[in-house]
Amino acid sequence: MNQIEIPEVESFEELDLSPVMRRSLAKAGFEKPSPIQSQLIPLAMDGLDVIGQARTGTGKTAAFSIPILEQLDSLEDCRDPQAIVVVPTRELADQVGREAERLAWGYPTEIAVLAGGKNITRQLRQLNNGVQVVVGTPGRLHDHLQRRSLRTDNVWCVVLDEADRMLDIGFRPQIERILRKCPRKRQTLLLSATLPTSVQRLAESYM
Ligand code: ADP
Repeated sequence: MNQIEIPEVESFEELDLSPVMRRSLAKAGFEKPSPIQSQLIPLAMDGLDVIGQARTGTGKTAAFSIPILEQLDSLEDCRDPQAIVVVPTRELADQVGREAERLAWGYPTEIAVLAGGKNITRQLRQLNNGVQVVVGTPGRLHDHLQRRSLRTDNVWCVVLDEADRMLDIGFRPQIERILRKCPRKRQTLLLSATLPTSVQRLAESYM
C-alpha cells in the first residue's frame, strides 16, 4: 500500500471534468471541491484503488460519485450495473442515491437504491429494466446476489462507504461476498472515518 501526499486542487476547473458535470455542480451550488473531493477525484479518475479517510458530512458522496458518473457507459451500451456503492444503513443509501441523482442531473443515468426493508419487487423490476449504478446496504445487496437479480459481470467500480461502520455492524461476510462476486479487474474505493486494523485488513485483501 502506497501512501502519497496529494496537493489539494483549489477549483473544480482544475479537475478536468466534463462540461455536463460542471453544469451539474454549478446547479447543485458546489463552488469549490472539499478536501476529500480534491484529493480523491483525480486518483479515482486515473482508475486507482483509493482509501479515503473522511468523516460524515465532508462531501464523500460527490467525491466517489463524480468519477463514476464521468466514466459510465450509457444504458444503451450496457444494461447491467457498472458501479456498486455499499453503505451501512438504509438512510445513508437513500441519501447517497439522492445526492448521486442530483449530480447526474445532466446525464440520462439510472441509479437504483437497494436498501433493506424496502419493497423488493420494485427493486427487482428496476434491476430488470437496466441500471448503471447501484447503491445499497450489504444485506440487501447480498440478497440480490443470491437471487441472481444483481449481475456483477460489468461492474468496474465498487465503493465501500463508511467501511469502519459497516465492519462494526458485522457486515464483513456480506461485503466480502459482494467483492468476490465482482470482476477482479475493477476499481475499489474505500471511505472510512477511521482506519482500524479491521479496515486495513479488508483493504489489503481486496484492493
Ligand atoms: P458525506 O461525506 O457524509 O457523504 P455528503 O457528500 O452528503 O457527505 O455532503 C454533505 C453535504 O455537503 C451535502 O448536502 C452536499 O450536497 C454538500 N456538499 C458536498 N460537496 C460540496 C461542495 N463541494 N460544495 C458545497 N456543498 C457540498
